[in-house]
Amino acid sequence: MAQDDDTYAQARIEMVREQIEHRGVRDPAVLDAMRRVPRHRFVPEAELRHAYRDTPLPIGAGQTISQPYIVALMTELVRPKASDRALEVGTGSGYQAAVLAEIVAHVYTIELEPTLAQRAQAALQEAGYDNVTVRSGDGYAGWPEHAPFDIIVVTAAPDHVPQALIDQLKPGGSMVVPVGPTYAGQELQLIEKDADGSVHTHVHTSVRFVPLRRGR
Ligand code: SAH
Repeated sequence: MAQDDDTYAQARIEMVREQIEHRGVRDPAVLDAMRRVPRHRFVPEAELRHAYRDTPLPIGAGQTISQPYIVALMTELVRPKASDRALEVGTGSGYQAAVLAEIVAHVYTIELEPTLAQRAQAALQEAGYDNVTVRSGDGYAGWPEHAPFDIIVVTAAPDHVPQALIDQLKPGGSMVVPVGPTYAGQELQLIEKDADGSVHTHVHTSVRFVPLRRGR
């Protein structure tokens, strides 16, 4: 595996330079994390040769691992710090969780599809991320047992921001979430909670995420 990883290291350096720095991501901690996380370990075997391409990829169960740039952008927007505790809704492959785990103290991540949750957990463990806790379930209501969070990253699109997630954000914390109808006209929103608890929303770029579904 170590040798395999070497063959991908060059592709990863180029991915960061051409797809991510080139588009304006500047946070050194985010760029370092994107250079370190072995993205190829989070894609299915059949997609291995595309692991570092500038595109989302299928991961099974009709879901996708996001385009590398979007992962970097969302991570930069929430301004992660070493002491932070983060919540991710929509574990998918586990890749975004790994990127966060490179920077913050602990990542709690929830995935609705049990098969994906299991696979992500295995990939995270094999890659050595012991500061990530994966749960299989509906993340619409967040993870109250571990709240509040400094950071919340939602990687599936709801048609409105779930109030439970806003409630589980710490004062001073930030959430990034794609909001809008399925596959059409979603906008990436950055939601910041001030020290006094007031909430501010900034709209960033338009994006296309799979829908945030409700648990069965
Ligand atoms: N962050 C992922 C990409 C996620 S794709 C990565 O880095 O690979 C979005 C994921 O959200 C899908 O796997 C989908 O199954 C999951 N999802 C959809 N609705 C959900 C919900 N209510 N709770 C938790 N996960 C959900």
